[in-house]
Amino acid sequence: METITTINPATEKKIKTYKRDSKEEALNKVEIANKAYLNWKNTSFEERSKLMHKLADIFDKKKNEYANLATEEMGKIISQSKKEIEKCALVCRYYADNIEELLADKIIETEAKKSYVTYQPLGVTLAVMPWNFPFYQVIRFAAPALMTGNTAVLKHASNVQGCAYALEDAFKEAGFPSGTFTNLNVTSKLIKPIIEDKNIVAVTLTGSEPAGRSVAKIAGENLKKTVLELGGSDAYIVLDDADLEKATDLATFGRLQNNGQTCIAAKRFIVLEGIYDDFLKLFTKKMQNAKLGNPTDEDAYFGPMARIDLRNEIHEQVEKTIKQGGKLVLGGKIPDRVGAFYPATILSELKPGMTAFDEELFGPVASVIKAKDEDEAIALANNSTFGLGSGVLTGNSERGEKIALQLEAGNSFVNKLVASDPRMPFGGIKNSGYGRELSSYGIKEFVNTKSIWID
Ligand code: NAP
Repeated sequence: METITTINPATEKKIKTYKRDSKEEALNKVEIANKAYLNWKNTSFEERSKLMHKLADIFDKKKNEYANLATEEMGKIISQSKKEIEKCALVCRYYADNIEELLADKIIETEAKKSYVTYQPLGVTLAVMPWNFPFYQVIRFAAPALMTGNTAVLKHASNVQGCAYALEDAFKEAGFPSGTFTNLNVTSKLIKPIIEDKNIVAVTLTGSEPAGRSVAKIAGENLKKTVLELGGSDAYIVLDDADLEKATDLATFGRLQNNGQTCIAAKRFIVLEGIYDDFLKLFTKKMQNAKLGNPTDEDAYFGPMARIDLRNEIHEQVEKTIKQGGKLVLGGKIPDRVGAFYPATILSELKPGMTAFDEELFGPVASVIKAKDEDEAIALANNSTFGLGSGVLTGNSERGEKIALQLEAGNSFVNKLVASDPRMPFGGIKNSGYGRELSSYGIKEFVNTKSIWID
């Protein structure tokens, strides 16, 4: 019997051991999800909305319990874990309140007596999800999926199985019929037979580029649609008219929130020559003052990374960059303490071809890059295989907007950190993936967009 033990990254202590689902057990759950779909697809928007509102209420009621679980399993600062649960409730309510409008039939004027587009569910969708927002990433997919009439099976990251089961229980408690949302506690080795199963109609994956490539390949061979939300190396251009206090506050929070492990975190700061030295000095001071602490401490600014192996991986990327000629301005040493802690780190004098410029650094490490002017800053920002988020910090929002329009990314924000919002589409281009989540765009990824023509 295969098992998985979750580990608290702050203490390295075992939390709980779970039995893994065998291939037969997992495929059986998928079959149950398909049976559930055959009834669920016939329910009204009103019925689905009622249950989705109940789920939102459960997130309100159990906010502290769920937040503690996320913090224990992946090390997020407790105040940020609570915000994550609040955002789950927000997304549930957004889809519950807007479903009629989001999936309304669209009349098309033609020579037919009547012609329109209607949106119908497809079946069981598989979600492969990461640990970094262990509740929110799942809800971002599951709330719209269930509102369309699809059912969902989840393969969550191995280190957050407590969160995965808590989510399954929350759907049950809200009154969703058995089989509409199911946790499959499987290793990624079982993803292939699950995608190949006749009952799976589509797959969404949020995670790293290699995981995305592997899942997309299997889904492609089986002609099943995918949405991929992958990594990023988001560039923030700091213009010479930016308010440096505000810009460095934003940069510090942007790089350290979620302990540096956010796909849309500000990762590469491309700073115009004229303010480069002042920016670096102030940013270094603020990063140095940000308190690294136990994630349950309310006064900690950031906490440990989610796993020891991930901490070691980012340290290797930092060391490699230094060997390639990058300069270590701050941090860069593994602290002598228990837990997957890594200090706030700044690398400068970076160029394309260096690890910290080219790869995603998924931890509390900021890359600071000098640009001689706006054009060079845009070229450096776009010199990336990724294209998830991006930003411009400036005192002139029109100047910022002009640059935002030239950045190769799915999201470009001026004077604000990129954040997902249920009303706006979210996703990437290039190796950051394809397809969109949230808003009217996300909900239509896994539906049959059907033309009806009455002559
Ligand atoms: P990960 O290692 O790719 O894992 C993500 C999920 O994929 C987990 O459930 C994992 O299962 C599974 N997985 C890993 N390798 C797989 C494979 N070969 N085949 C099938 N499934 C596989 O990523 P992570 O470390 O959890 O998350 C960090 C990455 O996610 C970063 O690159 C980050 O930028 C990205 N991310 C993107 C977004 C976005 O919206 N674009 C949001 C959050 C995170 P196991 O845990 O069992 O290995």
